[in-house]
Amino acid sequence: MTTVDRPVTTGRVPLVDLGIQRDRVAGEVAEGFARVLATTAFVQGPDVAAFEEEFAAFTGRAHCVGVGNGTDALEFALRAAGVGPGDPVALPANTFVASAEAVLRAGARPVPVDVDDEHLLLDPRALEAVAGECRAVLPVHLFGQMAPMTEIAEVAGRHGLVVVEDAAQAQGATHRGVPMGGWGTAAGTSFYPGKNLGAYGDAGAVTTDDPGVARTVRLLANHGSEVKYQHPVLGFNSRLDTLQAVVLRAKLHRLAGWNAERVAAAERYAELLAGIPGVRLPSAAPGNAHVWHLYVVRVPDRDAVLADLDAAGIGAGVHYPVPVHLTGALAPAGHGPGDFPVAERAAGEILSLPLFPGITPAQQERVAEALATAVARRG
Ligand SMILES: *Cc1c(COP(=O)(O)O)cnc(C)c1O
Repeated sequence: MTTVDRPVTTGRVPLVDLGIQRDRVAGEVAEGFARVLATTAFVQGPDVAAFEEEFAAFTGRAHCVGVGNGTDALEFALRAAGVGPGDPVALPANTFVASAEAVLRAGARPVPVDVDDEHLLLDPRALEAVAGECRAVLPVHLFGQMAPMTEIAEVAGRHGLVVVEDAAQAQGATHRGVPMGGWGTAAGTSFYPGKNLGAYGDAGAVTTDDPGVARTVRLLANHGSEVKYQHPVLGFNSRLDTLQAVVLRAKLHRLAGWNAERVAAAERYAELLAGIPGVRLPSAAPGNAHVWHLYVVRVPDRDAVLADLDAAGIGAGVHYPVPVHLTGALAPAGHGPGDFPVAERAAGEILSLPLFPGITPAQQERVAEALATAVARRG
């Protein structure tokens, strides 16, 4: 069996097809791996420094520090920004659990706030209501677009809140032309394989313009050490792996093109799905260049529609079925059903459709047909 003949019109349409990206960078990655193996520079090799420089340039920031994963990136960014034990940190109720984990692991206290009904991003009015009691805010740039940073920065500025951005799903996204890390003290991002810029395992980074923050993140990620065997602070072992840096470098210089493919695919979905009653389509918020990490529609009777799609060979997903304030991880915060109604209602309606660089029009047509059939049957 060869890998070039993939059945694009009849096989299952996966939520994400990482094999397409893998094949596109195969030569470059093989060369890079051979280079690392030849020198045995497995930890903190030259490819790590080169990737950090390249990713800092890509995001327009002065500094990038590679770390082991996105959750550590957020935790270290919060700590380096001076957020610590007991500090209340506002974050959206609709996000991946890692946003809240990072806050808790920094010793701080997550303060969930509701999202806006149109884009499911942190609602600046909800932030305003809790800003007086908070020390920081962790806006999440969800599904490939930035949180409404103009308004969030304005509220944060008036209340003296530290801003650390969760940019795990927004590599290449901008708000008013400004990418991740340009709106707060720092941004944490994840290179989990399925992200727009994905490694071949876990990886993450912090981007910032603040040299002190960059230095502290580097200390925390490397056993609290800048000079071998000197450990002035308690740190962690969470460095960006050299082999992952090779993969990320090979993918980074293609990312703008891949994001453009995502935008084209999102536009195609908008056309294909426009006439289907009951299906609510996603959109870019004002000022945003959206990079479509996920294409999230909203449908009635979502779980039944999801099951129908699965039976039709369509790999849809749900991001996320349980709002973060209702997870066991946040039980100590004492929230319950009804506290954040927009996020809770959305959690029962959202459906992520297959979208990835290399998805074909034929695959998208199959998704659209299956969705129309499922919604008509259930709705
Ligand atoms: C993926 C993700 C993270 C965490 O990244 P890991 O690399 O898996 O630790 C954090 N926040 C959001 C919104 C994410 O999607």
